[in-house]
Amino acid sequence: TLPSTTNRTQPNILVTGTPGTGKTTTCEMIADATSLQHIDVSRLVKEKGLHEGYNEEFDTFILDDEKLCDELEDVMEEGGKIVDFHSCEVFPERWFDLVIVLRADNGVLYGRLEQRNYAPKKITENIECEIMQVVLEEARDSYAEEIVVELPSNTADEMESNVQRVVQWIELFKENHRE
Ligand code: ADP
Ligand code: MN
Repeated sequence: TLPSTTNRTQPNILVTGTPGTGKTTTCEMIADATSLQHIDVSRLVKEKGLHEGYNEEFDTFILDDEKLCDELEDVMEEGGKIVDFHSCEVFPERWFDLVIVLRADNGVLYGRLEQRNYAPKKITENIECEIMQVVLEEARDSYAEEIVVELPSNTADEMESNVQRVVQWIELFKENHRE
């Protein structure tokens, strides 16, 4: 049975993956091509203070799961959201109709994180996370197998093809969920 069977007329999609795999760029392109609204969760967490402070050791905000989910509940209920976040286990399963996990090769990811001026330790941690498929396994543990899709995001061509694929999926969902 699909937990995604909802009364939403527009789907909610989660785009997840290790930092640097292309989530934000991909989501912006999908939002530009469809009626879906992009939610960059990292930005939201910073802007609305949905955290319990900063973890110096891991160079990251400590997420306040409850505050974050409360903030998004009504918005997700509306449908038509494309949510962009490097983690996926904090969200309720019922929110999403499709979960995309973007992947990138080590060398490619290294270059992108270096460009972002991440500290060497943070680059290493993220590369290890990608090698160990941490986010993919988290997605498979948190959502129904049939809604989790892993997509390579190494090149502009791959990104373009990922965007096309998701845009087509959205159109099909909308055709199948008319009021
Ligand atoms: P994320 O949101 O997952 O951290 P971004 O979308 O910010 O990743 O992408 C990080 C950088 O990598 C950006 O400069 C982006 O243009 C580039 N990038 C991401 N995915 C690709 C891709 N498939 N091909 C080429 N460049 C990419
Ligand atoms: Mn991003």
